Amino acid sequence: MRIGIGYDIHRLVEGREFVLGGIIIPSRKGMLGHSDGDPLIHSIIDAILGATSLGNIGIYFPDTDPKYKNIKSTELLKETMKIIKGYKIINIDSVVICEEPKLTDFVERMKENLGKIMGISKNLISVKPKRKEGLDSTGRNESVEVISVCLLEEEK
Ligand code: MG
Repeated sequence: MRIGIGYDIHRLVEGREFVLGGIIIPSRKGMLGHSDGDPLIHSIIDAILGATSLGNIGIYFPDTDPKYKNIKSTELLKETMKIIKGYKIINIDSVVICEEPKLTDFVERMKENLGKIMGISKNLISVKPKRKEGLDSTGRNESVEVISVCLLEEEK
């Protein structure tokens, strides 16, 4: 078995969609990024790549490549699953630090969507919303941060 950690942060700006776990959530501000800026998926990709020691998201999907401009991060996650062929995901646990909007009502849909893309049960995925109570950029609703851990094993 192997374990990996992933982290991501994206700035929140007006005029962009708020995309988390591939779900569009109604919000005044959205994620700035070269892709759709989904920090939950980006941190999960880094956790998976970390667990397999296969590098990081920037190596496979550089934000300087026009090919990935405004791409849905769900597509990047699909590609990542091909990269780690031969490994089976045991579980994923994520902390999503976000002041606004309130995420609790969207957690199940995020888990379902992520599970479908990764070909695993949503019960193997945990997404835990957390607020920073006004502290730091994330607490001031200027950014969204995510920390993810992934455990996987090599398929026999
Ligand atoms: Mg990112």
